[in-house]
Amino acid sequence: QQTKSRNKKGSKETLDRIVASKTGDFAAWYGEVITKSEMIEYGKISGCYILRPWSFGVWEQIQKALDGWIKEEPLEVQNCYFPLFVTKGALEAEEDHVEGFAPEVAWVTKSGETDLAEPIAIRPTSETIMYPEFAKWLRSHRDLPLKLNQWCSVVRWEFKYPTPFLRSREFLWQEGHTAHYTLEEADEMVYAILELYRRVYEEILAVPVIPGTKTEAEKFAGGLRTTTVEAYIAGSGRAIQGATSHNLGQNFGKIYNIAVEGEGGKKTIPWQTSWGLTTRSIGVMVMVHSDDQGLVLPPKVAPVQVVVVPIVSKTCPLSQLQSFIDQVKKELKNASIRCKVDDRGNQSPGWKYNHWEQKGVPLRLEVGPRDAAANTVMVVRRVDGVKASKPVNGLGSAIRAELDDIHQVMFAKASAARDSKVVQVTSWSDFVPALNDDCLVLTPWCSPKNQEAEDQVKERSREESLALLGLEAEDERTATSLAAKTLCVPHDQPPLPAGTKCFFTGEEATCWCLWGRSY
Ligand code: AMP
Repeated sequence: QQTKSRNKKGSKETLDRIVASKTGDFAAWYGEVITKSEMIEYGKISGCYILRPWSFGVWEQIQKALDGWIKEEPLEVQNCYFPLFVTKGALEAEEDHVEGFAPEVAWVTKSGETDLAEPIAIRPTSETIMYPEFAKWLRSHRDLPLKLNQWCSVVRWEFKYPTPFLRSREFLWQEGHTAHYTLEEADEMVYAILELYRRVYEEILAVPVIPGTKTEAEKFAGGLRTTTVEAYIAGSGRAIQGATSHNLGQNFGKIYNIAVEGEGGKKTIPWQTSWGLTTRSIGVMVMVHSDDQGLVLPPKVAPVQVVVVPIVSKTCPLSQLQSFIDQVKKELKNASIRCKVDDRGNQSPGWKYNHWEQKGVPLRLEVGPRDAAANTVMVVRRVDGVKASKPVNGLGSAIRAELDDIHQVMFAKASAARDSKVVQVTSWSDFVPALNDDCLVLTPWCSPKNQEAEDQVKERSREESLALLGLEAEDERTATSLAAKTLCVPHDQPPLPAGTKCFFTGEEATCWCLWGRSY
């Protein structure tokens, strides 16, 4: 399916259109969307991807929003940078932590031809790099709270099948690390950050998420408790962990000898938090919003929010429209709208429409001689194709309102798709059928601490799914599993009447737990 159009010099140009459909072959569709929109190029090493300007531009917008929020009052987090490498001794000091990360750690063993005396690890996350330094800097309770963040990349040599953005072996993120005098302050920090993560997804990326707390089995290795925002990808029927904010307790403090002199002169170990949001968020955004024509970018992160396409022809060359286009551009720039005029002479207007549609630009402005005469522009929305003519006078504020509306429409659409797939299930017999119907399943659950029962649900749901689908075994190469995982205990809990039983163990339920198949 290639669109051929004749440019004004008469040569044929083709646009490499997306062939796979979102509902037909989701994985192939996703691969085409991210490459043909010029977001991703596949690197030479499996699981490593090149972020081209079109996706890096999205990341810059995410960074700008989140970086601003964490630096503002009341959080006042400071940015810093720690080295990429960690010694074996520091990495392996915390037992649970190393056990959780060990299989994915990449090691440097040589410099040139010479073996290093001791291998050096590349950070999978930086607790073990930062906290020995915290031990030097924190002396008194007056040095608390310490609130640091770094924007960097980390390496996790994932053994699961990689997926661009969602699961890569090197990814970009921010990692925040704080130390506080009391557990309560640490918890406040954890929840404040979780709320910012919710805002990144919902207010910036127009993706609805469910905030909650991870079960013991799924919490961060070495931490006290993990909070999370969970997103849903309707196209694949899968959940995905959006970002996590951990209360690390005093565990790392004990290991790395962080202690401060407390108010009464007594030594106390600070309470720590760590939290991270990665380039995975871009993949979630693409999967949730995009369609068979390509990317659909939420206005807040679109590197170009408005593209202006001059409708030129033999009888109306660009020069005839130039001053009108300049006026349009000025209106948009004055309203701080990220806009671009596609005045390339070697492509037809039709080709440009398709090109920018594939790249997901929220609004296209068509500007021709009739528009110039009437002092209007034709505005076309990427999200739903709705077209309307608007006057150039006051265009900036009209476009701003249009962009805000597009965000709302995208969020409402994604929320409706997600909400229609969240079901409450109270007995096991309904559980696997709900999973097979691509649902996120809320169940009464005995206890977030019951790891054994959680493992059994995982295994039984996998076996029953295979049987129901008539499969022998799962394909090892798939990015996902048929087994149900706990996603979180949502913070917004439905009422749980006294006497409600756990859907699996039959014991008294203590909470509603959210399950799903996930990435
Ligand atoms: P963690 O430090 O393990 O809590 O991870 C922080 C966040 O990173 C998770 O909540 C995921 O959203 C994201 N994440 C984990 N692994 C990957 C990966 N391989 N590629 C991209 N993002 C990841």
